[in-house]
Amino acid sequence: MVLAFIEHLNGAPTTLSLEVLTMAGRLSGEMAVPLEAVAIGPKGAAAAGIVTSYGVSRLHVGDDPRLADYAPAGWARAVAELTERVNPEVVIGTASDRGSEVMAHVAARMKLPLAANCTEIAPGDPFTVTRQRWGGSLLEEAHLKGRVKLLTLAPHALAAEASPSRTEVATHPFTPALDDKDFRVRLVPQVEADTGKISLAQARVVIGGGRGVGSAEGFASLEELAGLLGGAVGCSRAVTSLGWRPHSDQVGQTGMRIAPDLYIACGISGAIQHMVGCRAAKHILAINTDAAAPIVEQADYAVIGDVQKVLSSVNAQIRKLREVPVG
Ligand SMILES: Cc1cc2nc3c(=O)[nH]c(=O)nc-3n(C[C@H](O)[C@H](O)[C@H](O)COP(=O)(O)OP(=O)(O)OC[C@H]3O[C@@H](n4cnc5c(N)ncnc54)[C@H](O)[C@@H]3O)c2cc1C
Repeated sequence: MVLAFIEHLNGAPTTLSLEVLTMAGRLSGEMAVPLEAVAIGPKGAAAAGIVTSYGVSRLHVGDDPRLADYAPAGWARAVAELTERVNPEVVIGTASDRGSEVMAHVAARMKLPLAANCTEIAPGDPFTVTRQRWGGSLLEEAHLKGRVKLLTLAPHALAAEASPSRTEVATHPFTPALDDKDFRVRLVPQVEADTGKISLAQARVVIGGGRGVGSAEGFASLEELAGLLGGAVGCSRAVTSLGWRPHSDQVGQTGMRIAPDLYIACGISGAIQHMVGCRAAKHILAINTDAAAPIVEQADYAVIGDVQKVLSSVNAQIRKLREVPVG
């Protein structure tokens, strides 16, 4: 059996977890074994309505109320205990911050090897994975041993794809044996940032700004374009280091990994650590004064020019096009 460890928000699986379900479904097909899933926290049961479209036959729900909020060791104990009991061939989670942390705890607790950040998985003997190293700048092929193969899937390694037919999902709640020590690290109430805005992770259009934007105030034109296109603003690490934008806006190896339909990179050079965060975008448009900047090479489209001048005319043009014709 393949067991997919899914993360969810009030029972709605995250986008990355839908990708995990897609990969897990492919694996279970290739291995000719059933696909099951585990969601932690009592609200995980609500995920049944969605996992039914991904070929899951059984949804395990760690339903102890103490697991409702994130606690890495507690969540890992639940996943490890379930793994011991149901004995899957493979357990696969997301390579998100939480998925990586929980799966690392599971590996340590069960004394099993873990292959992190996989992009391709070929079950068989040897069990072969391709995984990202060095923030995605290197792809490594590795053979994984162990009675249970523990894996995390690199974000956006594939697109989430529901299967055309729905399965009957049986929900199996379970209560793991938990210890106070499992809650030494736990989530305390979280503060939501900018609740009125479209989140960077979900936006279909992202306007990214780099050092070439010139100043914190220079981001006003990017904000305007994001508003016009219903998108979100991101930035490079140079920008967060300069204090122009908060770290929550940073795209890249040490920031957010995004997969919008369109990424407009304004005054960004295209360093590898930045590209790791945006290479899953369907289209990249670069605006840069330097035609030889690495981002221009990697982009689908490029405008060579000063970012403020270019955005000023683009924004004016969009505003004009949106004007309702008189009469
Ligand atoms: C371990 C590690 C992790 C890192 N993680 C990240 C990360 O998560 N995200 C990230 O972004 N970086 C990260 N970096 C930093 C990364 O290597 C680069 O230094 C950074 O991305 C550069 O930011 P930038 O492109 O904004 O600035 P620069 O490299 O200074 O590029 C500025 C660009 O703007 C252009 N420009 C200048 N003026 C204008 C103008 N008026 N109009 C248009 N274009 C103009 C220039 O031609 C240039 O291409 C990391 C580095 C390390 C070592």
